[in-house]
Amino acid sequence: MPDSDSILEKLRKEGFRLTSTRKAILSLFLSGAGPMTAPELQARLKSEGVDVNKTTVYRELDFLMAQKITREVQLGDGLRRYEYFGDGHHHHLVCVRCKNIECFEMTACLKEIEAEISERKKFTFIKHSLEFFGICSYCSGAEGKVP
Ligand SMILES: [Zn+2]
Ligand SMILES: [Zn+2]
Ligand SMILES: [Zn+2]
Repeated sequence: MPDSDSILEKLRKEGFRLTSTRKAILSLFLSGAGPMTAPELQARLKSEGVDVNKTTVYRELDFLMAQKITREVQLGDGLRRYEYFGDGHHHHLVCVRCKNIECFEMTACLKEIEAEISERKKFTFIKHSLEFFGICSYCSGAEGKVP
């Protein structure tokens, strides 16, 4: 679990204002929420009693992106989702029924596949993004609880 105090301290030292909205958004992301769209973020904040307008949500997201605290996730549906950046490289399991998105790290590394493609196509990799689409355990009935 990332340390929100150290992130707040770093921002404070760099002279950024730490409004209650900014803190609320930060703690939401750090608590493992996401990837989520700006409207989803706004709804989540509202459910926690933090009422912010759309403009503020987008401005705060821009800020967090610029600080490399969050990153954008593309899941092929044209929506921009955001999640905490610090968790490192990982992939997503997207349920096509309930739209739940789960982050996970792959145990097997793609490095070998990349090396082979690199050799064959003379292509230098910078990054890759790989998401998986299917039915989650809740939707398939394998698990009785709500995700
Ligand atoms: Zn990967
Ligand atoms: Zn599902
Ligand atoms: Zn993720």
